[in-house]
Amino acid sequence: MLKLEGKTAVITGGNSGIGLAIAQRFAQEGAHVFITGRRQAQLDEAVALIGGHVEAVQGDVTQASDLDRLFDTVKAKAGGLDILVTSSGIAEFSPLDSTTEDHFDKAFDVNVRGMVFTVQRAVQQMVSGGAIVLVGSIAGSVGNPGYGTYSASKAAVRSYARTWTCELAPRGIRVNTLSPGPIDTPMFDGVSDEVRLTLTNRIPLKRLGRPEEVATAALFLASADSSYVAGAELFIDGGMTQS
Ligand code: NAP
Repeated sequence: MLKLEGKTAVITGGNSGIGLAIAQRFAQEGAHVFITGRRQAQLDEAVALIGGHVEAVQGDVTQASDLDRLFDTVKAKAGGLDILVTSSGIAEFSPLDSTTEDHFDKAFDVNVRGMVFTVQRAVQQMVSGGAIVLVGSIAGSVGNPGYGTYSASKAAVRSYARTWTCELAPRGIRVNTLSPGPIDTPMFDGVSDEVRLTLTNRIPLKRLGRPEEVATAALFLASADSSYVAGAELFIDGGMTQS
């Protein structure tokens, strides 16, 4: 039996990497999936790859009008929403000494502010039984030289999940955080072989994760399989945060 038959899902950042793998998996499980991202060409490619059960709505999560257009489209085409996954995010290298206000604002604008106002709109049309999966990062729980702003933004994501779990449970909506470790996505394209090797050596399972492995975990948190899981943080990191 398909796990998401009859469900409608919105996935931000659904045109690349982890979000794309989640969109693909959810569509395979029978969901009507809406993906969003800024780059139309990547959205078109994602729709072609997924092949069915999917619609793309171009948009920037930091723009209120884009978020309104996304959720208006979902309401018009699907009539409501069951699942939200917030996977849009950016990770810029910036040690404290060279961190600028622009860098800080950009990271928090996408990773935190964009996520907050996406969730705010999503819950307006979510019914009881709804599930929200916030993509955090192991970076929110550990020191991460050069990525202080990114890590703090992901700690904020995890914090919101705790509060929203309490606020939204009375409405029958569960909120959980999915926190990947190093996953081989386009976010890693610029990473040198040397850094990849260093990272790999720090991971007990001795390899980077695959986007499909994160998608499996997202399916668990979005489906009835996790009906008694709320406010949790699920690490998909090959054991990295435990080592
Ligand atoms: P990715 O392939 O670069 O995907 C990032 C996604 O975010 C893209 O779809 C991008 O689409 C979207 N995005 C960025 N800014 C946006 C904006 N302003 N509005 C709407 N969409 C925006 O990287 P990924 O690895 O899949 O990352 C997905 C999530 O996983 C991120 O939140 C990231 O922090 C988290 N994560 C990744 C890893 C990892 O190792 N890869 C580890 C831990 C956590 P457009 O560019 O088209 O807008």
